Amino acid sequence: MKTIPIDCQIYAFNSQMKPAVRTELGSTLLFETQDALGGQVRSPDDILADLDFTRINLATGPGYVDGVNPGDTLVVCIHSIEPADSGAIVTGPGLGVLGNEMKKHATRILPIEDGFVLFDDLRLPIRPMIGVIGVAPEEGHYATGTAHKHGGNMDTKEIVAGRIVYFPVAQPGALLALGDVHAVQGDGEVCVSACEVDARVTVEVASIAGRQPEWPIVETDDAFLILVSLPTIDEALEEATRQAVKLLGKARELPAEDACMLASLAVDIEISQLVDPNKTARARIPKSILGAPLAELL
Ligand code: CA
Repeated sequence: MKTIPIDCQIYAFNSQMKPAVRTELGSTLLFETQDALGGQVRSPDDILADLDFTRINLATGPGYVDGVNPGDTLVVCIHSIEPADSGAIVTGPGLGVLGNEMKKHATRILPIEDGFVLFDDLRLPIRPMIGVIGVAPEEGHYATGTAHKHGGNMDTKEIVAGRIVYFPVAQPGALLALGDVHAVQGDGEVCVSACEVDARVTVEVASIAGRQPEWPIVETDDAFLILVSLPTIDEALEEATRQAVKLLGKARELPAEDACMLASLAVDIEISQLVDPNKTARARIPKSILGAPLAELL
């Protein structure tokens, strides 16, 4: 297994990314990741307003996967996400959904013990997830804080160990980078951050040749989640719906009206996060109504 060390950091996904390591299809990669605050918050006195913002929202990588080409799908199987034993969460004026109502900056250091995040006398079960994960885009320059079709800062609590994430490949080798692990996060990520932790993430990489989704897709035991990130949550919710209807139409050979009716009956349109430059929505499509393997529908 190859390791991408914590000092191989990127702050943007773009078409000119230089690989940190090269690996092969079917191999496993270990990413050492730093928290999204760049390791700058270690006490309640470290507030977001005082941080060096050039060190925020970083990712580790990228990894070049031999044999993966533009037009393919990169298939990332998440084997494990091991968070450190302490995390940090921050908020303040102008930040998050209720930024207008936050009167001062606030930081908490959150201990993690025996699989729980401690918040006062509450013990919240950890559910470690990857906030930033993506590949090099076809063109453009996406700061690691911004999500789009290449992935990026999707802050989706469903990207956990045991899941598979599918990305549209736009550059040779795909150039996979990830970071911004949260020990736990709710849908919305409403205060602007979650339990931000350093972590060790292991993934296995595979591919689907010659086909790809338009947006990243997460596979769970019983569903596919199409992740859409756009400037407003309204746009993201609408496009996630459109993508779900399109997939259902293809899978079941239905005209748009019937596919939309089926979506209305069986697809959940959900919110991943409301606080990043692009907001992320997801369409949850039960595998049971697709009737065909995902690879045949791309
Ligand atoms: Ca994030």
